[in-house]
Amino acid sequence: MKDISLEDMEKNLPRVCRKGRTRNVNVGPVSIGAGELTVMAGPCTVESRSQVLEIAHAVKEAGAKILRGGVFKPLTFPYGDPLARPDRDSAESALDGEVLLSREELFRTAERRLAYLREAGQRYGLAVVSEILYADSIDLMSPYVDMFQVGYRSMFNMDLIQALSETEKPLLIKRHYGESLRSLLGVAEHFEARGKENYVLCERGISVPHTHYPESRAVLDIQAIPALKEFAPTIPVIADPSHSTFRRTLVTPMALAAVAAGADGLLIDVHSDPRAAWVDPLQALGFDDFERLMSDVTAIAQIVRKRVGLPCS
Ligand code: PEP
Ligand code: MN
Repeated sequence: MKDISLEDMEKNLPRVCRKGRTRNVNVGPVSIGAGELTVMAGPCTVESRSQVLEIAHAVKEAGAKILRGGVFKPLTFPYGDPLARPDRDSAESALDGEVLLSREELFRTAERRLAYLREAGQRYGLAVVSEILYADSIDLMSPYVDMFQVGYRSMFNMDLIQALSETEKPLLIKRHYGESLRSLLGVAEHFEARGKENYVLCERGISVPHTHYPESRAVLDIQAIPALKEFAPTIPVIADPSHSTFRRTLVTPMALAAVAAGADGLLIDVHSDPRAAWVDPLQALGFDDFERLMSDVTAIAQIVRKRVGLPCS
């Protein structure tokens, strides 16, 4: 069954469907839920120390509270992943007989990049979120991140669910583009049944027969936001207009729509040189676009009675 029945709410999803006000999820010193609109922004992929520092500075100035950045990228194809290469130049020759990094090397490379994220976060007063792919990387990542992102590809990974339930850090759980709210709330119930309550759910688009543009991957399911609030009123819900639309011109309009629909936060890819981004160059926002997004989002947030952190003066 694809939709949520009353019986589900009582028998299968009793914890996530309980009544109440939106709970507070603390991410380092930042709070999600409870009347705040929390914006997470940063590069899709951590490319270099200077890149992360520059982007962290810009997103902080514009009013973001959490720095995002990938160090383990679950890309669609194995080739050309710069994170699986010791340096950028060698990424170009992925098909020339190079081998991918071993797990040990991958972890070492990731740790170097995590340190850049943490340094940038500390310098500009931003909490840090990054995607986790491997349960055995929790210890490696923990000193550097304030929140673990569970990507849409991992939402059913029981190994991760089990291991992350035992951590204290909050989680950002994305809905797979082909999965129902029933499945997403089922995953949330798995966490809650294990005693894990500090997480937020993220709408990142659904698969539909057409997306209006050839490069646009999915359609942001705006309706999912109020629906999640109805079924699971205590759980904060954020939206990812970057990875759902996959198209720069759609990111800001969908961010505004998500906030108007009640989202408690946004996840946005931002890059100093968006077209040159190693990953997701089609949808990353440049600094000017992100500033405009923040200012428009702040106006919408007021209408729906949410506070947004004021940009630094
Ligand atoms: C990301 O947020 O870095 C990402 C890769 O997103 P998604 O898994 O939703 O495509
Ligand atoms: Mn991205």
